[in-house]
Amino acid sequence: MSQTAQSKGSQGQSKPGQGGRGRGPPVYGRGPVGGAAGARPRRPRREPEEEVWVPKTVLGQKVASGEISSLEEIIESGLRIQESGIIKKLLPDLKSEVVDVGIIQKMTSNGQSTRFKAIVAAGNENGYLGIGQGKSKQMRIAIEKATSQAFLNVNPIKMGCGSWECRCTQKHSVPFKVKGKGGSVTIEIIPGPRGLGLVAGGKIKRLLELAGLKDAWTTAKGSTPTMNSTSKAILDCLRQTFSQG
Ligand SMILES: [Zn+2]
Repeated sequence: MSQTAQSKGSQGQSKPGQGGRGRGPPVYGRGPVGGAAGARPRRPRREPEEEVWVPKTVLGQKVASGEISSLEEIIESGLRIQESGIIKKLLPDLKSEVVDVGIIQKMTSNGQSTRFKAIVAAGNENGYLGIGQGKSKQMRIAIEKATSQAFLNVNPIKMGCGSWECRCTQKHSVPFKVKGKGGSVTIEIIPGPRGLGLVAGGKIKRLLELAGLKDAWTTAKGSTPTMNSTSKAILDCLRQTFSQG
């Protein structure tokens, strides 16, 4: 093919042939592609949809109107938070993070069913932490469910300095030794001096960071890779900070 085309071009019409070859590739090669790319309207980048929060509960309306301005007020009055929007409004600096995802496979009469589960932690790195779980046939929805659960579960943490080596007044650790359980997992958080850092395994460390702790020793017993139990044990620990003192 190319040989015959070349021979024809060189034999018969040398100048037009060369010109054709010279022009050809740009026309056939670049022309249509470039033109199409230029003509094709660029798909607008999908922007994250920001949902406007419409409060559904009385408590939500009070928060939205500004009548209630802190999470402590709600906790003290013993009201139940049923909307994650309340937490988002009261703690705008809350970050959420996927802690663990997994697949649940089950045999049913129709065959195998596959679902996803996700564990998400939400914390503001300054005294608040919540952990939530979600399951769904779609991973994205499982994460969404877990995230809103985590927001609803946000707990305050009493921080302080319980270290005898430090004895400062800054809130960088737990005020005293706390122990929490979740399933088979037992976790102990022991106050540490400033500059120690968090002495903990990967995911436990990340959760404590999200909670806002900076220095602490930890011990863990049981099967800590089971994030379900581990996250419960951590939340239990952090709730214990209110138990004494
Ligand atoms: Zn200290």
